[in-house]
Amino acid sequence: MNQHDPIFKVIELVERNMALADDFLNELETKTGDHEGITRESYGPGEDFAHELLSKKATSLGLDVYTDIAHNTYIRLPGSDRDAQTLMTGSHLDSQPRAGNYDGAAGVVASLTALTSIKDAGITPPQDIILMACRAEEASGWYKGHHRGHIGSRAALGRLSPEELETAIHVRDGRSLAEHFLDRGMNPEAVAKEPHLADRRIKGFLELHIEQGPILTSRDTPVGVVEGIRGNIRCRSAACIGEYTHSGGVPHEHRRDAVNATAEFINRMDTKRREVDAESRDMVYSTGKLFTNPELHAITKVAGETFFSIDVRSIEEQVLESMGRYMPCLGEELGAKHCVEFRLGKYSRTKPAIMDPGMRETLHRGCGRLGINRTDIISGGGHDAVEFSLNGIPSAMIFIRNENGSHNPDESIDLDDLLLGTKLLAWALLNA
Ligand SMILES: [Zn+2]
Repeated sequence: MNQHDPIFKVIELVERNMALADDFLNELETKTGDHEGITRESYGPGEDFAHELLSKKATSLGLDVYTDIAHNTYIRLPGSDRDAQTLMTGSHLDSQPRAGNYDGAAGVVASLTALTSIKDAGITPPQDIILMACRAEEASGWYKGHHRGHIGSRAALGRLSPEELETAIHVRDGRSLAEHFLDRGMNPEAVAKEPHLADRRIKGFLELHIEQGPILTSRDTPVGVVEGIRGNIRCRSAACIGEYTHSGGVPHEHRRDAVNATAEFINRMDTKRREVDAESRDMVYSTGKLFTNPELHAITKVAGETFFSIDVRSIEEQVLESMGRYMPCLGEELGAKHCVEFRLGKYSRTKPAIMDPGMRETLHRGCGRLGINRTDIISGGGHDAVEFSLNGIPSAMIFIRNENGSHNPDESIDLDDLLLGTKLLAWALLNA
């Protein structure tokens, strides 16, 4: 790269400002960690701390800070044309319970480092660049019941329904998200009905995030350019209802064994997944929760009920649609076979989000210019970028290598990889 190119100075400054990123992440870890991992509850104390820390740091760096009614935080670097469409970047600051320090926070800190480096280089971008630190991206870890997560970004984009705030129920205290909002002095109805961001005002959204799988590590590659983000179809509160009977006295033909029926259901879902895979189509399937009733179950009883979750993901809308038709049919077939009833409950659906080809091309070019070894990758996890993309806003994602997966205390990134990802982010924000 030409040393007289002003972007060269930005890239140099990113390198220098990585100490700021490191400090930020260390402070987050110290203040929101305990011996079991990191806990930054959606709309809870850990997430509040992270947003306050971000606001303080950004203010001290001379950047504009403001919030919206959903309590998302925004950091603005003003551009030369204040009326031009803004370019947005960011991620989330909450975490799953007892998780790692980097899922979400790495993207926010990379965005802050990029913004301050552009400012320090004396560059005024053609339009405002806005960092958005989203609230409650991980709401699924804290609120059960019917909702679609990503609460902060969806509220800001007008994608949240008021009903969801009533049907999202806190896993510990059993109170709704709407009640939690009222406790915080927020107006739930207004949060759902008054979007802060206007789609037509946004030129694009760029999110850096840790990879949540092993692909970059296994390919020995520090950076991934995301092609698309899998959509999903989920049953959060599925159940199988049979009958509790004696495990010795009742012959099998008289049983209504909910565990056996559920085991076959899960197995058949996996068989279906293998068939889809054999057709070179994309699908992953998980039952992440599976319980019998601890009040009624016993080693000497045939189980009369199970409670479980279903999570099917694919980058292909068609696969999700066909699984949406397949699951109730499978429930009926196995219900009849085992004399039980499958109650799959309400489905929630999120469409796959294909990343903007132009922004991906910019990222590819940036990797070339900066000499960054990258691979193209599909994101299995949902992200705030999905919501921007589904609102028709050109969106893209940078993944950085992360060992040991995410949503657990062992997330592990190398600061050198974060540096490469942040350089690419800064480059893309000036070239998008
Ligand atoms: Zn995340």
